[in-house]
Amino acid sequence: MLRFFSLGSGSSGNSYFLFSDHFGILIDAGIGIRNIKKHFRSRGLTLDRIKAVIVTHDHADHIKALGHLSNDYHIPVYTTAAVHEGINRNYCMTTKISSDYVRVVEKDKSFCLDEFCITPFEVPHDSTDNVGYFISYDMVRFCLITDAGHATDKMAEYIRQSNYLVLEANHDLNMLMMGPYPAYLKGRVSGPKGHMNNLEAAELLAQNVTEQMRHVWLCHISEENNHPELVKKTMDSVLRSYGIIMGKDFELDVLRRIVPSDLFLLE
Ligand SMILES: [Zn+2]
Ligand SMILES: [Zn+2]
Repeated sequence: MLRFFSLGSGSSGNSYFLFSDHFGILIDAGIGIRNIKKHFRSRGLTLDRIKAVIVTHDHADHIKALGHLSNDYHIPVYTTAAVHEGINRNYCMTTKISSDYVRVVEKDKSFCLDEFCITPFEVPHDSTDNVGYFISYDMVRFCLITDAGHATDKMAEYIRQSNYLVLEANHDLNMLMMGPYPAYLKGRVSGPKGHMNNLEAAELLAQNVTEQMRHVWLCHISEENNHPELVKKTMDSVLRSYGIIMGKDFELDVLRRIVPSDLFLLE
């Protein structure tokens, strides 16, 4: 049985846990170790359920707890060589990942951990490097795409194969442009190596979702430039224009920033 929950999603920290009865993969570790423990405990889990961490990219909101997790709990950290270098240089890494726990992966090269088969793929972003992950486990095809500057054919290809998807819908473009961010930051966030906006995420989903999709979770929602109801409304209207009905063709939830999600059973 495969389960999934989000521990936190957004600029204050991202972390997701995908786990079977005897193996667990943490995707990103951008929230403090104490909060990770707290959220695990509240679900009756202990940190020894984490057998590997896979990392998308080297921004603080995705990597903060990696040093502690790897060194104190002896958990290997998988990501590209460039992301490992970026992590090592990052100011937020007061505890570095010991070389014993560094595991290097390559884009488009699948690797297996226990019964999980994992393929990292390119996602454009202004970090040292960034990858999405496509994960197969039995009949489950799970895909996670976050911090995506723009939609690519590669993302589309993996969305078409997925039945569970975590997809970034960071901001509403109007809210961003009318909002309090300074001009350079507006440019960065909305640029091709920034973050995906609601409309871009909705179009990418609507154009590539297949009838095998069961559940979509929207992640990395901006606090200042987005709202859960607004992103749902945008999704609903774009999907409807393609004849797709949220809640009927598949479930869709917006992951909250600080509060962990429910625990979902993937089958
Ligand atoms: Zn980022
Ligand atoms: Zn981020």
